[in-house]
Amino acid sequence: MRAAVVTGFGQPLEIQDRPVPTPGPHQVLVRMEASGLCHTDIHAWRGDWPVKPTPPFIPGHEGVGLIEAVGSEVTRVAEGDRVAIPWLATACGTCEHCVAGWETLCESQENSGYSVDGSYAEYALADSRYVGLVPDGVSPIEAAPLTCAGVTTYKAVKVAGTRPSDLVAVFGIGGLGHLALQYAKIAGASVVAVDLLDSKLALATRLGADHTVNAAEQDPVEVIQDLGGADQAVCLAVSPRAFEQAFASLKRGGTLSMVALPADNDMTLPIFETVLKGITVQGSIVGTRNDLQEVFELHAQGRTKVEYQTRDLATVNEDFEAVERGDVDARLVFDF
Ligand code: NAD
Ligand code: ZN
Ligand code: ZN
Repeated sequence: MRAAVVTGFGQPLEIQDRPVPTPGPHQVLVRMEASGLCHTDIHAWRGDWPVKPTPPFIPGHEGVGLIEAVGSEVTRVAEGDRVAIPWLATACGTCEHCVAGWETLCESQENSGYSVDGSYAEYALADSRYVGLVPDGVSPIEAAPLTCAGVTTYKAVKVAGTRPSDLVAVFGIGGLGHLALQYAKIAGASVVAVDLLDSKLALATRLGADHTVNAAEQDPVEVIQDLGGADQAVCLAVSPRAFEQAFASLKRGGTLSMVALPADNDMTLPIFETVLKGITVQGSIVGTRNDLQEVFELHAQGRTKVEYQTRDLATVNEDFEAVERGDVDARLVFDF
């Protein structure tokens, strides 16, 4: 099978011919139809984060395809089912987090395209207990970005507690941001979209953002405070500076939702303002299997729009560069 392989941090990915893997007892073999390119794959390739993957590895955690073979213990899915391979490849199922329905916090989790091979390949293995079930009415190409960008931002808006009278500031209108703003609108809120590129802001307006700020030209804090301050600020921009601006754009009692994972791991959080304004600072990591099913349902009902362009796996290196430059409206999806 054809696979894009990271052979060393920051080295061009290689397109290799790999043997098709055989599923273990709880696993399924998925023949890939589509796989989204998440900025996390770029962080994985560069070795940006404190916990690193071990090359060689196959990136990808927005994989969607059809089950071609099942392991001996598989009961939840069957051959021919369309499934999604998310970031959470597997978890223990028994720890306090798993039992509480927060498998995304499990300390024994594996991650697709990071600690185990992912979906930048014609075939991938997945744990049958953790795959998403793609409903009829959601195309594989659109299901792919929903599998990480969708579920992550849906969850972030959900736990931030967005209500209809709220103003939500979305920092970073990329793969994640273009969906975040739609979930905030579905929750009934008004949205102010912040990015450095006018093309991203035009997309945000098309998708329903009420206000936009180009942070390369205007101070987003000033603009958002003039609007009354944000009830929630969701930071999806790969920059500590954006986190600081997102914090400063909040109104009293507001919530900073931290989602992006820049290589530069430090931001300044002023103690006095956090205390006096009663600010909540919340980290949010992907979403659970239930969240993913809700995301698919919303899309099947026609309530979200996925913006994407398709690519062939062969162009993966150029595609990483294009995403880093911001030369992509929202998501690139490898079409198999
Ligand atoms: P992306 O590259 O598609 O989008 C990032 C956007 O931020 C771009 O539109 C860019 O122009 C904008 N931006 C950059 N600097 C900015 C600034 N200073 N102010 C405003 N906007 C700015 O990336 P993506 O795929 O949407 O991922 C975003 C981040 O989220 C990455 O760090 C990724 O690793 C992380 N992520 C986190 C989770 C999680 O569970 N917490 C899940 C998926 C991705
Ligand atoms: Zn992702
Ligand atoms: Zn667990």
